[in-house]
Amino acid sequence: MQIKAEHIVPCIQPYYKTPLLVHEGHMQWLFDHTGRRFLDMFSGIVTISVGHCHPKVNAAAMEQMKSLWHTTNIYMHPKMYEYAEKLTDKLPGDLKVVYIVNSGSEANDLAMLLSRVYTKNFDIISFRNAYHGASPYSMGVTALSKWKYHVPSNMGVHHAMNPDVYKGIWGGSKCRDSPVQADRTCSCAGECSASRHYYKQLQEVFKYSLPRGHVAALIAESIQGIGGVVQFPKGFLKMAYELVRTNGGLCVADEVQTGFGRTGDHFWGFEMHGVVPDIVTMAKGIGNGFPLAAVVTTPKIAAALGTALHFNTFGGNPVACAVGLATLQAIEEEKLQANSKKVGTHLLMELEKLREEFPCVGDVRGKGLMIGVELVADKESKEPLAAKQFADVWEDCKDMGVLIGRGGTHGNVSIPISNTLLTNRASICPEMLPVRYSGCLFQ
Ligand code: PMP
Repeated sequence: MQIKAEHIVPCIQPYYKTPLLVHEGHMQWLFDHTGRRFLDMFSGIVTISVGHCHPKVNAAAMEQMKSLWHTTNIYMHPKMYEYAEKLTDKLPGDLKVVYIVNSGSEANDLAMLLSRVYTKNFDIISFRNAYHGASPYSMGVTALSKWKYHVPSNMGVHHAMNPDVYKGIWGGSKCRDSPVQADRTCSCAGECSASRHYYKQLQEVFKYSLPRGHVAALIAESIQGIGGVVQFPKGFLKMAYELVRTNGGLCVADEVQTGFGRTGDHFWGFEMHGVVPDIVTMAKGIGNGFPLAAVVTTPKIAAALGTALHFNTFGGNPVACAVGLATLQAIEEEKLQANSKKVGTHLLMELEKLREEFPCVGDVRGKGLMIGVELVADKESKEPLAAKQFADVWEDCKDMGVLIGRGGTHGNVSIPISNTLLTNRASICPEMLPVRYSGCLFQ
């Protein structure tokens, strides 16, 4: 703590009153300096997709390290091509060209640059409550004020209303009153009224805020993650894509949290909305904890950059590509997408029982192993649980041996505590769960 105080920037604040000193991680477990074991349900902010120090991913990294660590992308090396082929194989349609980078923020920056160069337009639309990164451009489209500081690049960014069927001003209760089901996005039969209202608001952005014919792109998460696991109502994203395209813009899917099978039913989150984006960005789970991210697009859009030397020293690093390949293989071989659906659905059902039982559990939502529990002071008004009480819940979980995350907009702004718990796709093998949890959540 003394070294931290003297040498680490103060904005880096570890979670918990007594910060966790992590020494080891094995699959879904983290171990502190005393050897105490924790079930890691936050997975380094939704990143450990196949397990800490997964043996096959470790072996692939070590094997690659023996022969080549780094080249930059001015030379060729086989791992990058092998990975590019395998990765783009997972994407539909013409999404076949990849630019490998190192983080979600970099990926989103490049996606916006590509959109602007390709369309020759400048303006970008994102949704309120979105998180897209912390680099200047990605922070510009992020729409959560606690994550924005001195943004130099908000120019040309328009934030449309995010369709939040639990708390949003156009609700609506119809979308939430159904009993818990595998697909929780919306239970409206046919066209969803919430979708229609939020779509009208998006049209207003075009009418009043955007200079005519200037839209370069819409960037959207398939489920808003850091914003508190907010699911869009049925049909909304599809209508939004059509509107943007009609006006000459591209559609960018930020799959940093929702990609790689995390939502269970599909490999990519955008598939649940029945859309095919023009550009897809991915990070976090793609590298199972290794700095790896990517932008995938069509050959036509990629060609817009021409031969401009858009350079990235570490992009396509051989070790990162070896890790990416092994992670993808583990997801497939161990059927982790199906696991995400199975365990996630069970978890949702059990959490739903808590919602019925406890006045402070306002909403339980999500898909697969992307799940949020919104804690409220009052179920009727949906007023968020006080930050202090939320912190107690969260600390108690840790004391009981379970690490969960936090997100959402309703915490204290300067101390980012909120009222939403995020759980993650720690690759859960029921037989490895400690008895007290197997009796509790994952029977
Ligand atoms: N997009 C989304 C949806 C994210 O959740 C995040 C990170 N929380 C990012 C982009 C930025 O990724 P990174 O922190 O790797 O830059």
